[in-house]
Amino acid sequence: MTEKPLEISGRRIAVAGLGVSGISAARALARLGARVTVVDGGDSDAHRARAAELAAEGIAVRLADGDTLPEGTELIVTSPGWQPQSPLFTAAAKADIPVWGDVELAWRLRGPRAAPWLAITGTNGKTTTVRMLASILDAAGLRTAAVGNVGTPIVDIVLSDEPYDVLAVELSSYQLHWAPSLRAHSAVVLNLAPDHLDWHGSMAAYVADKGRIYEGNEVACVYNTADPATEVLVREADVAEGCRAIGFTLGSPGPSEFGVVDGILVDRAFVDNRRQQARELAEVTDISPPAPHNIANALAAAALARAFGVPPQAVREGLRAFRPDAHRIAHVADVAGVSYVDDSKATNTHATEASLAAYDSIVWIAGGLAKGATFDELVLRSAERLRGAVLIGADRHLIHEALARHAPDVPVVDLDRTDTGAMTAAVHEAARLAQPGDTVLMAPACASMDMFTNYNERGDAFATAVHGLASGRAVSEQ
Ligand code: ADP
Repeated sequence: MTEKPLEISGRRIAVAGLGVSGISAARALARLGARVTVVDGGDSDAHRARAAELAAEGIAVRLADGDTLPEGTELIVTSPGWQPQSPLFTAAAKADIPVWGDVELAWRLRGPRAAPWLAITGTNGKTTTVRMLASILDAAGLRTAAVGNVGTPIVDIVLSDEPYDVLAVELSSYQLHWAPSLRAHSAVVLNLAPDHLDWHGSMAAYVADKGRIYEGNEVACVYNTADPATEVLVREADVAEGCRAIGFTLGSPGPSEFGVVDGILVDRAFVDNRRQQARELAEVTDISPPAPHNIANALAAAALARAFGVPPQAVREGLRAFRPDAHRIAHVADVAGVSYVDDSKATNTHATEASLAAYDSIVWIAGGLAKGATFDELVLRSAERLRGAVLIGADRHLIHEALARHAPDVPVVDLDRTDTGAMTAAVHEAARLAQPGDTVLMAPACASMDMFTNYNERGDAFATAVHGLASGRAVSEQ
């Protein structure tokens, strides 16, 4: 497909948001000759410092007003966090001014020999999968980067001097919402569960934005056979001629699927004869950690890599080389025969359900800010694995009530404190409930901001408490 080169020079462009992606977009646009004004509702010292830096580069910044359109604006480039209902966008719609996200801008700025994009979205598992994919592409000797919702701003990557062979792109639902002309080589929606509904307005709108990732795919639309809503999105997408629908499953794969047979990851899609053939890619034990949801992530990454023509051997090497980011099912230590695991990144019930499913006998540390979630289904599906539960944080009563309703025999410790020392108390209570062979799993199903700056700090507090518990006892760390 040939697109017209984007005419930026001399145009008046407003950038919404003075964060990392807004600043990178503003600089890129200014370098290309645009007349840029960054607008932001904030006016803190940090805002002013950033504004002064940009002003020195010839970029105008308007603080304390993110609602009104700067005079003469022809295009708005928005940061992902800005709500679609923001007055700035209402004003833009009235004046027929287009709004692009950072991803749309990056897509439009690509040069004529730009790298194809392998794109990943889903409610959970995006970062893990995009990093697995980058590791596989790297093992295949390709110049690549994990970008999008992670790492270096995507605009900087597409404008970099050294060409990439292919990009592994993580896309949030916000980014997809503002990326109407994106056309990936291949893409996956890993799973769909309610999240960020306040931003999108409804589950239907959230799902529709996720589904945009399949629009115009050239080679493969990868979906999760265990999550039929992802397959529906593939069916509804308008794709390039010859593009295939490829499923992934934790079970034995049918034709045109990736799956698992006797502990081996296999490809029954990109083989000569998919009715009769399957290709071995890797073993489950090559994946770290080999929890079911992580095997699903590995299958999705493998499917995208194979769609791009990567050989099976590179899939195995890439998965072996992959190490998860911190606070995602991270083994902290074994103390007195009990394993302590930090999954602080499990900030919603869907993620927590996946991590609870990975262990047989669990003392569960949970709680924080529920963001409107309910916990009945999570507790119902996980009750038989729970040795006990220790609840912390502002909305812990919601989890306590669900446990009382569906798992009345599970002992619960309700910690009536939200200071940062509460995590140490929680770990001590969990240690008291646990028996040798159990896992103490901190997978809170809630956001952390009632007690911590972010999920990283919450995970660190857990690890510190576990190490404190360990001193004086027999410890084996990994
Ligand atoms: P995201 O980038 O989508 O937030 P991450 O890869 O950072 O996803 O994982 C976030 C959390 O989601 C993990 O800590 C884990 O608990 C959970 N998770 C990861 N992969 C999956 C999956 N495929 N299905 C359900 N939950 C998952």
